[in-house]
Amino acid sequence: MTIHLKDFIHYVTELNQNQPEFIQSVSNFSEDVIPFINEQYPNFEKLKILERLIEPERIIIFKITWMDDLNNIQINRGYRVQMSSIIGPYKGGLRFSPTVNLSVLKFLAFEQIFKNALTGISLGAAKGGSDFNPKNKTDNEIMRFCQSFMNELYRHIGSQTDIPAGDMGVGQREIGYLFGQYKKLRNQFSGVITGKGKAWGGSNIRPEATGYGLLYFVELIYKEQNSTLKNKIITISGAGNVAYYAAEKAIQLGAKVVSLSNSKGTLYDPEGLDSNKLKRIAALGKDIDEFPLHYSSAQFLTKQKPWSIPCDIALPCATENEITEKDALNLVANGCKCVAEGANMPSTREAFKVFINAGINYAPGKAANAGGVVVSGLEMSQNATGLRWTNDNVDDKLKGIMESIYKTCTKYGTEKGGYINYLKGANIGGFIKVAQAMQAQGIV
Ligand code: NDP
Repeated sequence: MTIHLKDFIHYVTELNQNQPEFIQSVSNFSEDVIPFINEQYPNFEKLKILERLIEPERIIIFKITWMDDLNNIQINRGYRVQMSSIIGPYKGGLRFSPTVNLSVLKFLAFEQIFKNALTGISLGAAKGGSDFNPKNKTDNEIMRFCQSFMNELYRHIGSQTDIPAGDMGVGQREIGYLFGQYKKLRNQFSGVITGKGKAWGGSNIRPEATGYGLLYFVELIYKEQNSTLKNKIITISGAGNVAYYAAEKAIQLGAKVVSLSNSKGTLYDPEGLDSNKLKRIAALGKDIDEFPLHYSSAQFLTKQKPWSIPCDIALPCATENEITEKDALNLVANGCKCVAEGANMPSTREAFKVFINAGINYAPGKAANAGGVVVSGLEMSQNATGLRWTNDNVDDKLKGIMESIYKTCTKYGTEKGGYINYLKGANIGGFIKVAQAMQAQGIV
């Protein structure tokens, strides 16, 4: 029996009403995977592999109460979507943002299944977080919130069960408070969270991993064409963890990075950022709008995205659906030849169709931003053995795994005319590993 794409998307939509991001993510994936199943694995239809895959194994929703600095009681909602434990313990980040809801977390957890499978490390998939807004909170408020969040989450996680990490709004400070509370509640020092500080179980290169891994992937795209990143003009969105280290590595590889951005607008420096300018940006935190006060070559384009700036390579590293069809058309018209996603699902469906139809290189987040979870996996290995690997050792392993993800994408994504559809390659390459494991493990 064949699976009909339209029928399946109808089924997903009916089952997950009011979850647009989740439906978007499943639909994008199904477009590549359903024709592949029909052609090569028709028995997956009877096994209901897709229907089983889109249903989270478990969703935990909980109340978080905490006191702000004025002694007011605050209430937030916490989540953990334990999506799939087929190829390893649940693994995926925590996001603190008022934009967090079940649809967003389910889409992130769904993408995580294939991203984690592509790494070749034994990792299942999860995502979690809260609608808590960390902006303008004091350090003490952040600590009390994290402790209250962990007071519930600790029952559901463990180094062999579910290993959270950071994501938007959750950096090393938050990981520290979450880990400290877990340790107190369990009386156990274990590798239950990744992204820890280096002195207390963290791995070298973990903060840098997503941004660096993204650039290693882009380097491979250019190597395929016998080219390098030298003198390529790069626009980057975001000014957080992923964007910052993407910029750092791009500069190291000889590219000219001309933008970063945040929710207020875009920092544009046509002369390009360098390591000194990046240090200044790090000191400003996410307040990059103040950067032009220090460097006259730069300007801050209030309320604008970076996608009208001419570039060779665009690296969206902020948030989902930040590149619309109009942005994509602008990028292509201005000569952009490569879009690689540091963020998760930053291109709308209409946008990535523009890139693929224009025949430019399009590297989806589930492959290109896997570096973060790769080094999280390496942190887990180091925690399990009590060893700590050097910078170079971790960086070499990261490079090697990004290369193997790249090869999987080309294996399943190279089309008849030679165009490499990295999206299709990532979807099918990740899917097949999980689907075969599901078949082997029976109906559970
Ligand atoms: P951070 O919280 O460190 O930074 C997020 C950045 O994006 C901030 O500069 C923020 O600006 C900006 N941003 C957020 N929303 C918007 C918006 N609507 N419009 C414009 N800018 C916005 O997050 P990360 O760098 O960790 O994560 C960024 C993306 O990368 C997310 O999609 C995340 O899921 C993905 N990712 C992260 C990984 C990691 O290891 N951290 C791993 C893989 C993927 P402002 O401060 O003004 O809100």
